[in-house]
Amino acid sequence: MSRKDKKPEPAPSPSGVERLHRLLEISLWINAIHADPDELLGQVVDSIQRNFGYSFVAVWLLAERGQCLSFRAGTGDAGRAMRQRHAQIGVEESTLVGQVAQTGVHAQWLALDNAHASLAAHCLPTTRAELVLPLRAAEELTGVLDVQRDTLEVFAHEDVMMLQMLAGQIALALLVAELHQREDRRRYFDQRIREAGQALSGQMTTQEAPDHILDKLAAVVPYMRGLLMLAADKELYVVAARGFPDTRRALQMRITLRPTGDIYEQIYRTGQPLIIDDVTQSPSWQQQNWLELNRSWMGVPLTVLDRVVGMLSLTRREPNAFTGDDAVWAQAFAGQAAILLEGSRLYDQMAGLNVELERKVQERTEELAGALRNLERLDKTKSNFIGVAAHELRTPLTVISGYANMLNINPAITSDSALTSMMEGVLTGINRMLQIVNNLLDVTRIDSDVLDLEKSPSHLYILIKRARREFDDSIKERNLTFEMVDVEDLPIVLVDPNMMYKVFYHMVMNAIKYTPDGGRITVTGRVLQGTDIGDAVEIQVADTGIGIAPEHIKLIFEKFYQTGKLSLHSSGATKFGGGGPGLGLAIVKGIVVAHGGKIWAESPGHDETACPGSRFFLQIPLMRLGTGQLRNLK
Ligand code: ADP
Repeated sequence: MSRKDKKPEPAPSPSGVERLHRLLEISLWINAIHADPDELLGQVVDSIQRNFGYSFVAVWLLAERGQCLSFRAGTGDAGRAMRQRHAQIGVEESTLVGQVAQTGVHAQWLALDNAHASLAAHCLPTTRAELVLPLRAAEELTGVLDVQRDTLEVFAHEDVMMLQMLAGQIALALLVAELHQREDRRRYFDQRIREAGQALSGQMTTQEAPDHILDKLAAVVPYMRGLLMLAADKELYVVAARGFPDTRRALQMRITLRPTGDIYEQIYRTGQPLIIDDVTQSPSWQQQNWLELNRSWMGVPLTVLDRVVGMLSLTRREPNAFTGDDAVWAQAFAGQAAILLEGSRLYDQMAGLNVELERKVQERTEELAGALRNLERLDKTKSNFIGVAAHELRTPLTVISGYANMLNINPAITSDSALTSMMEGVLTGINRMLQIVNNLLDVTRIDSDVLDLEKSPSHLYILIKRARREFDDSIKERNLTFEMVDVEDLPIVLVDPNMMYKVFYHMVMNAIKYTPDGGRITVTGRVLQGTDIGDAVEIQVADTGIGIAPEHIKLIFEKFYQTGKLSLHSSGATKFGGGGPGLGLAIVKGIVVAHGGKIWAESPGHDETACPGSRFFLQIPLMRLGTGQLRNLK
């Protein structure tokens, strides 16, 4: 079917079947309207004209909120010309078209009546008769169908009925087309909003966010000039501008929110978008003289949790350019934009906090590293001093010890019981001093990694027994039970026996020292396979002593760390609760680690009355001999 502009021959009155046939053709065109209303409405009027021999057929639709009728389609050259110049008729105007649009009732006019000639003001010059019918769909008047003849002939009842039916169909088809269009627009809009939402998600600084928002908005609601303003202290200040001849100048703009009548204040107060169809008609509009006049304006609030945090101000050049749809879309977009803005503020704050935090951490780390370096230096100095002092003390101590031993066997002393017991005291003191000096030397050696191990296959049982023998007197005196379980059968290990002896010496001494009279000390041995130091021999020294508090359990292996009471320091090495200089476990750990082993302590806690006891574990790697089998050299 193609559109013909040629004026048709007046058709002879069609027969009933022929008439139906023609109506069918017109209906087909009408049914197709929804696909492209602008094009197909033209086909419909052509088809009516062609099939029924009218001189002119046109469709006018209500526009501008029902204020006027706008020419939408018409036959021939006249129709095309009217469409091109966007012909309009005010509803109030006294033309037949205006009258029907107001009354909603069809009416006709004949060129007999000169008094009412103005009714046909919009008719073609040749028109002699006109019939105008309302287009009504879903009870609503949407426009009129205008049919003209150039013969002075009344439209018969039959014609009116038929055209009324066609007008109903056209109105319905236009409604369906409009619904389709709306649905398409909604889908398009949903898609754009989704895209904008994605584009507006993510983290952004307050510097980046406003420009980004205006860029993305242009894809959803196109505009000539756009501003994004933020509200603070009853003032809107511009943070992003698009389409301005001088962006810097635009960014300096401030708008004070004046109460009553001010459009910005109205948006701020109501939280609703506002459209001005033509700013030249708006008394409150203040045109900036450095900007080209854009007739349409729309303001959209940026709202977060019912609080207006800013505004979008958009313009388009033509009047009436923003529609209700634009407002709905812009508002939905603004919702996402406001979230992005708030997010960016938080992000900025967080970023600021993070930078501050990092700076502080950095400062503290540097301070700590400095303090650590100082401590290490001090520790080194202390170790050096201890080493030098111990060396210097050992020589005179050895001399004193030699002379004291000689005196001890001198008859002048042995014959006098009072002198003998005094001499014993001197010798015990000297021995204790020698012990301490030797311990200090051991610690210094461990600290400076000069613990030269002279390893040989050794039996730990022998070394433990030797250590125990050292304390035989104290064990008896303090009524302690000392037992060894599964130690005798332990395999031979490759260790420095003198050093390992020192380990057991200190462990047994501690067990005695921190266990009350009548207590029990148990040394247990076992072989473990696949520990984190490989196959190992484990020795456990358990006592029923005062136990160790959890806050001390790791620190007791540090040198000079002791938890005992200072007042008890002068007590003997194996007196209950007698404190030492805090060197024993540091030496033990140093030696065990030098052997590639591990040491740790376990205890339910410290309680001098309940005595929960302590257990010390030490593991020494088991030497593998032969083809990977544990070989007992015993
Ligand atoms: P000290 O010379 O003080 O005994 P050590 O290095 O041998 O030094 O021990 C450090 C600290 O560990 C001791 O002061 C004591 O508090 C605690 N300690 C060591 N062994 C035991 C144990 N068997 N029972 C309870 N506490 C212990």
